[in-house]
Order: sequence, then C-alpha cells, then structure tokens
Amino acid sequence: MTFTSFMDIALEEAKAAAARGEVPVGAVIVDTSGQVVAQAGNRTRELHDPTAHAEILAIRSACVAAGTDRLVGHDLYVTLEPCPMCAAAISNARIARLYFGADDPKSGGVGVGAKVFSHAQCHHAPEIYDGIGAQASATLLRTFFQAKREGR
Ligand SMILES: [Zn+2]
Repeated sequence: MTFTSFMDIALEEAKAAAARGEVPVGAVIVDTSGQVVAQAGNRTRELHDPTAHAEILAIRSACVAAGTDRLVGHDLYVTLEPCPMCAAAISNARIARLYFGADDPKSGGVGVGAKVFSHAQCHHAPEIYDGIGAQASATLLRTFFQAKREGR
C-alpha cells in the first residue's frame, strides 16, 4: 500500500484562509477509499464563530455529507497541531488517523497543554503522525503574524 499525503491540499486551504485574513490553518478529511470528503480553512472571523477552526468545519462538512456523526476509518490532515477543542472533536468523530504539520506550543492540545488524546477521559485516540509539511505550515503562520504585527 502506498501512502499519499493530502497535506498539500490542507496547505492550500491554509493559504486561502490567510488571503481571507484568517489564521492560516487548513484541514482535509479522507475517507476509507482515499477520497477527499471535506476540506476547509479557518473561518472564525468571517463566521463570527470562535469554533470555526479548519478541523471543526471539515468534520462538520464530512459528517453532513456522510449522514453520520462518526467518521470511522477516516483520516484527518491539518497543517497545525489541533487545539484542545479540535482534538476533542477529532476524538468524538472517531477519526482513525491524524496527520498534522507544525507543532503549536502556544495553543496545541495534542503534544502539549491538555494533551487530549492521552487524557484518561479520552474514549478514542487516533493514530498520530506529526511533522508532515511542518516547515511550509510554520512559514505560512510566521509570515501571517509578522504582517499583522507590521500592520500590513
Ligand atoms: Zn482548533
């Protein structure tokens, strides 16, 4: 079996989010047959919704399309380490594998902070693969926040 990374699509979503003035994070969900069933970028500002992170929007969209609240066997690719809210949603959705790019020491909830998946209350933890496309993701974020600080 060959491994195909869908991180490039997630990075495109992150770039599109930056172009909308949103924090550049993108997510992709792939079903058991390897088809992309959802892709999204952050839209918290546009939707006036603090929960509109890329992962949440992708999970909602994939669940609606599948007519279920469980994405058993699905893979989720996201350009940045999920925050605790998204990690909990990934667990609730029963995502099988989580691929993420850059670490997020400030707001992450996987390797740092709440460490949602290793918490005793976590009922389902995906397999986790980190560091995929990490450099491209980190560069996008750095450029975005630098431009913000400089008022561009
Ligand atoms: Zn999040």
